[in-house]
Amino acid sequence: MTRHNIAVDGPSGAGKSTLSKMLAREFGLIYVDTGAMYRTIGLHALRSGVNMEEDEAIVALLPQIQIHMEYDTNGNQLMLLNRENVSSEIRLPEVSMSASRVSAIPQVRRYLLEMQQSIARESNVIMDGRDIGTVVLPDAGLKIFLSADPEDRARRRFEELQQKGVSTSLDEVLKDMIQRDHNDSTRAAAPLRPAEGAVILNTTGYTLEQSYLALYELVKRYMED
Ligand code: C5P
Repeated sequence: MTRHNIAVDGPSGAGKSTLSKMLAREFGLIYVDTGAMYRTIGLHALRSGVNMEEDEAIVALLPQIQIHMEYDTNGNQLMLLNRENVSSEIRLPEVSMSASRVSAIPQVRRYLLEMQQSIARESNVIMDGRDIGTVVLPDAGLKIFLSADPEDRARRRFEELQQKGVSTSLDEVLKDMIQRDHNDSTRAAAPLRPAEGAVILNTTGYTLEQSYLALYELVKRYMED
């Protein structure tokens, strides 16, 4: 059977996970959120109280970490950190920043790479992250790069956090986002950039429905190939 794997990359708040989940449901793909894996390691690092500036201290934590992914009956990806369900806690703003920090360390990236690639060997996936088209699944048949202006992305993320009852301000979210964009695109290890051959979609000013429609056509054509 031919594998149909889709790579979705882009900065935070571009709509990757919402849109990927919708497409996964529509086309019977497994949705894999790789950011959640970095967040899980980021959470463990935060909890352990290591100095976040010390790469070696963070790398030394890796052997203590067991990450498992499960799916609930609605198809939501759950993250287990040493058997504890941390799916909600990893969404906290301080964990976002910690994830961005640990994700710049090459050993952390290597640690997750095999897990990510093996899921895509087993099933047809739509996988989102920062380096899926460039590093994790360079042979993916469809690569998408989603972006939008930082103000638009911050507004969407702020609304999401508000719905979850996390107390923060739009300014704070925008500041964090700009910092994370900078970290993610300037790091030496697997920096955020569009993969060769990626379809680039800028969703600034788009409603969710408009973005979905644009991607739906693209994915439909690919899945029918
Ligand atoms: O996508 P999300 O915002 O949940 O990702 C959290 C952080 O994990 C990102 O800011 C980025 O630093 C890192 N990440 C990464 N590579 C991926 C996915 C996420 O470096 N494939």
